[in-house]
Amino acid sequence: MFETIVAISTAVNDNAIAIIRLSGDQAIEIVDGIYSKDLSQQDGFTMSHGYIQDGEEIIDEVLVSVFRAPNSYTREDIVEINTHGGAYVTRKIFNLLLTKGARMAGPGEFTKRAYLNGRINLSQAESINDLINANNEAKAVSSIKGVNGSISRLIEPLLEELMQVIGTIEVNIDYPEYDDVVIMTNEKVLPLLKDFLIKANDIVDKARRFRVIKDGIKVAIVGKPNVGKSSLLNALVQKDKAIVTDIPGTTRDLIEDTINLKNISLHLIDTAGIRESDDIIEAEGINRSLKAIEEADLILFVIDHTYNEEDEKLFEYIKDRNYLIVRNKKDLDDSGSQIKIAAREKDISELTDYLEQQYADDYSLINEDVLNNERQISLMFMAANEIKEAIEAVNEGREIDLISDDLYSAYHYLKEILGEESRDDLIDSLFRNFCLGK
Ligand code: GDP
Repeated sequence: MFETIVAISTAVNDNAIAIIRLSGDQAIEIVDGIYSKDLSQQDGFTMSHGYIQDGEEIIDEVLVSVFRAPNSYTREDIVEINTHGGAYVTRKIFNLLLTKGARMAGPGEFTKRAYLNGRINLSQAESINDLINANNEAKAVSSIKGVNGSISRLIEPLLEELMQVIGTIEVNIDYPEYDDVVIMTNEKVLPLLKDFLIKANDIVDKARRFRVIKDGIKVAIVGKPNVGKSSLLNALVQKDKAIVTDIPGTTRDLIEDTINLKNISLHLIDTAGIRESDDIIEAEGINRSLKAIEEADLILFVIDHTYNEEDEKLFEYIKDRNYLIVRNKKDLDDSGSQIKIAAREKDISELTDYLEQQYADDYSLINEDVLNNERQISLMFMAANEIKEAIEAVNEGREIDLISDDLYSAYHYLKEILGEESRDDLIDSLFRNFCLGK
C-alpha cells in the first residue's frame, strides 16, 4: 500500500544504542537481505540476535525486533534494529537499507501512518508529539492521557448527544407519519441545546485554564514609578536582576524571568513605568509595557502608601484585565485590605501563598481529561458558537429544520477535533512538526 520507510529513531551521535526503524510491506524482506538470521520466520513481538552484513562484510552485531501487521505502531510490518549506537555505523546501516529499497521517512511519518491506517485518531497523534516535547509534569501527564484517548472520551459523548437531536429532527422531517418517534419541538430541543452549551463552554474554559498551567503564567508587574516593581521582581526571582533606584522611570526596558512556585511557573515581566514621556527610549519602553499588559495572563498592579491619581490613571489600562492589587512597603504603612508585601525586605509570602492557592485548582485539572492544544480549543469554541446560534434561532421561533444546519456544523467541528473530517494539508502540517523516526 505504502512504500517501506526507514529512519534512525534515536539521536544520531555516539550513544550506547541506536534504533533504526522500518515500516511497510517490505520491511522484513529488506532487513532480511542484510541480516545473518532468517527474519522471514521471526514472529511478531520477538527479538533476535545476529549481524548486519553487506555481502561478506560484517557491519555490526545487532538485536532485531519484528512487529507484524496489524499489531504494530503503524499497523504495518515494522522492524527495529538496535545497533551499537555509534553514529558512523548507524548511518552506514541506514544507508545500506536505502540502497536495498527503503525510502527515508519524513518527519512524523510513522505516526502519520498509524493515523492513516486507523490505529489512532488525529488528537492521539498530536498527543504523541506533545509528549515527546513535554518539558514539565502537566504537559507530560496531559499528553499521555491524550495518547490514551482522553480527547475522544471528551468529545464522543457530545457527538452522541448531537447526533440524537439531529437524528430525531431528521426523522420528524422525513417521516412525519411515524408517530412512535419523539417530535422535536422547539420546547423540547431548547433544554438539550442549553445543556450541551454548558458542557462545551466548560470544556473550553478548563482547557484554557490548564493551558496557562502547562505553559506557565505570564505575569506583568505594573505600577507607577518607585512603588517597588523592580524590588518585587528581585524578591520573586531571589536575585538582583532589575536595577532598583529611587529615580522614577529607571526601568526602561522589560526585564523578564521565570520562577517556579510549587506546581506553577510564572513568566515575570517587570514593565517600564507607563507614563507620558518625551524621552525616546522610555517611550519605546512604554509601548512594550502596553504590549506586555496585553499579553499577560495576570497583572500584578503594585501600589504603595502614596496611592494617587497617577495610580488611578494607570489602573485604567488594566481594569478590564485579570489583575491583582499588591500593596508594597507595608513596613512603612500596613493599612488597606489588599495583599501586602515589603518587597525590599523580601517579605512577599502573602503574595506567593495567594498565587499558589489561586492556581492550585487549575493545576488539579491534571487529573481530568482536558483538550490539549489551540487547534482543539478553537474547534470546540466554534462548535459552541454554532449551538449558541441554534439556541437563538429556537428562541426566535424559527423552523426546527433550519436549526439542524447549525447542529450539523457543530457536529463537523467536533469531528474535526478527532481528525475525522480534516483536510490533507492540515494533516501534513501537523505531522511535519514531528521529529524524524516517530
Ligand atoms: P520601581 O520603580 O517600581 O521598579 O521601584 P523600585 O523597586 O526601583 O523601588 C523604588 C524605591 O522604593 C527604592 O528606593 C526601593 O528601595 C524602595 N522600596 C522597594 N520596596 C520597598 C519596601 O518594601 N519598603 C520600603 N520602605 N521601600 C521599598
